[in-house]
Amino acid sequence: MNQRSYDVIIIGAGIVGLCTAFYSAKAGLRVAVLDRSTPGSGTTSKAAGMLGIQAEFRSPNPLYHLAKESIALYKTLTNELLEYQTTSLDWTSSGAIKLAFTHSEHKQLSDIQPWQVQHGDRAELLDRQSLQILAPAVTKEACAGLYFPNEVHVQPKQVARAFEHSLYELGVDVFPYTTATSVSSNRVTTRTDTLYGEQIVIATGHESIANTPWPVTPVKGEIIKVRPRRQLSQQTIFYNGWYAVPKQDGEWLLGATSTHSEDTTISVNGVLELLTNTQAFLPDLRDSEITAMWSGIRPKSTVDSPFISPHPTLHSVWLVGGHNRNGILLGPITGKCVTERLLGNEVNDAFTSIKAGEHIEHHHQSEKS
Ligand SMILES: Cc1cc2nc3c(=O)[nH]c(=O)nc-3n(C[C@H](O)[C@H](O)[C@H](O)COP(=O)(O)OP(=O)(O)OC[C@H]3O[C@@H](n4cnc5c(N)ncnc54)[C@H](O)[C@@H]3O)c2cc1C
Repeated sequence: MNQRSYDVIIIGAGIVGLCTAFYSAKAGLRVAVLDRSTPGSGTTSKAAGMLGIQAEFRSPNPLYHLAKESIALYKTLTNELLEYQTTSLDWTSSGAIKLAFTHSEHKQLSDIQPWQVQHGDRAELLDRQSLQILAPAVTKEACAGLYFPNEVHVQPKQVARAFEHSLYELGVDVFPYTTATSVSSNRVTTRTDTLYGEQIVIATGHESIANTPWPVTPVKGEIIKVRPRRQLSQQTIFYNGWYAVPKQDGEWLLGATSTHSEDTTISVNGVLELLTNTQAFLPDLRDSEITAMWSGIRPKSTVDSPFISPHPTLHSVWLVGGHNRNGILLGPITGKCVTERLLGNEVNDAFTSIKAGEHIEHHHQSEKS
């Protein structure tokens, strides 16, 4: 890589960096994106891929509205990305059911349903009997469910691959195996080179870069993939933070643990927790074949919500991240909102902005190459 200059250099090619590169290139900016490994191979490749907007939010908070905008973008992207001869996103309209086992859980579901319907989403309360008719594999101990017929999931690795391929078509320079070691205004230093950019976007997930404050804390999540021996439900099933997602290949993802840690080993405890909690609502999982398991590190924001923020001290440098458990869902709207800022447009959205002088953690620095 020789000294080259760009309108925007994006550090990190996870879902956030890829979506930002995509919308920036489409807006006519000259874009470079670099990743210390291959595009999409970070936390993005570990996600379950649920675009779980209705199951995720308990109140109509600002992120709920952003998530709805992101889903709308995904709907266009499913066709648009194919125009760049990319792979499909494995868009699956499975619907989802959130379960209740107790009176108070039933009440919580009853509270969620009205505001979602008011916001134009479909949400149907199911009593025990209608739950059994819709999803007979769910344990009879569940007394109610809230059914979201329009919930969708995708295959995150394919989403990342689709964006990556479209970037080549859009003329973006993609640099895999390129670690940014430091950033200053208009300049990114890698182990071997210097790149120049009018603006720089840091989108490094749970890792930070030297001299860059990064308001993110790592939250480890483990997932088990299984092939059931018999037909389970058609829908994604949620209970109490645990979920089971039916994938297009006939296998199910059981997720996910949540531990404040950056250690990616798969623990006996994690596996035990996952299997115990998901079998409790889908008992027929018990004789499934385990086909894979993995863990990933969610980038949880320490400033409440995902951020798109000017660097507190470096001019023309943007910090973008903190998407925690919703990065796949919020990727497209994030990329679009970052692009608006790069173009100098006024944006009024729900992403957090970090004020100069605000205390933010200086988290683990990337040393891997
Ligand atoms: C178990 C699990 C299940 C999940 N399920 C879902 C789900 O169903 N739906 C959903 O919406 N979200 C889900 N998530 C969350 C989602 O995966 C994340 O929010 C999202 O992937 C974060 O994307 P990112 O681009 O910020 O980070 P990453 O994907 O980690 O990308 C950051 C990139 O930056 C690169 N990088 C880091 N440092 C440097 C450097 N110095 N120089 C160059 N490159 C660098 C890394 O190599 C990496 O590729 C899940 C997460 C986990 C762990």
